[in-house]
Amino acid sequence: MPHFASPDRGRRLLCVDFDGTITERDVLASLITEHAREGWREFENAWRRGEISSVECMHGELGLLDMSSEEMDRYFASMPVDPDFAKFAAEAAAAGFHLEILSDGLDRYIHPILGRESLSHLAVICNTTQGEGSRLRIQPPYPVHCIDQAGNSKGHHIRLRRKEFDHVTLIGDGLSDRGAAMAADAVFAKGELRLYCEQQQIPHQGFHCFAQLRPGIAAVSNL
Ligand SMILES: [Mg+2]
Repeated sequence: MPHFASPDRGRRLLCVDFDGTITERDVLASLITEHAREGWREFENAWRRGEISSVECMHGELGLLDMSSEEMDRYFASMPVDPDFAKFAAEAAAAGFHLEILSDGLDRYIHPILGRESLSHLAVICNTTQGEGSRLRIQPPYPVHCIDQAGNSKGHHIRLRRKEFDHVTLIGDGLSDRGAAMAADAVFAKGELRLYCEQQQIPHQGFHCFAQLRPGIAAVSNL
């Protein structure tokens, strides 16, 4: 059973990645992989090497799409979420965690997907967007100087939140969670984040889905 921080450790923040963690697949990466013209891998690889930020990567990749806004929104709406996430979120709140969705994805699909799942009440920190279709312009939640080695600002966000919270737990799956994993007190990791934590010797627990995490949260709520 996963171990969550005990309630006597004060205010506890639970940061949960969206793409590939709450959703079963990375929403934007799937869109780009399936629909972008040739050339998107060069942006992806430059981001992985740390040469460009995630926002620069997304702008480059979105420019390789020939889709209307309506087509894009239909694609986003088709993305399934982990069937146990809603129960997990309710149990985490009952156990005294403040849950925030901490995403390097886009408001354009995160809010509609959460709305569809009756989860609009959850706090979300993500990139905001303006414009339409392939000309979507992305505004990150923090200034450029806050961008960490993962090419986004998740680590910066966690360091800021420490003013209000005594303990921070991260649940994530990808390379955009690297900075957050280094800043958090406890890490639940799958996918590329799990490999990264193993390579960097960052203490973590592996998981595959929220059904595995629910017993840990329930145990905390029963203490
Ligand atoms: Mg992710």
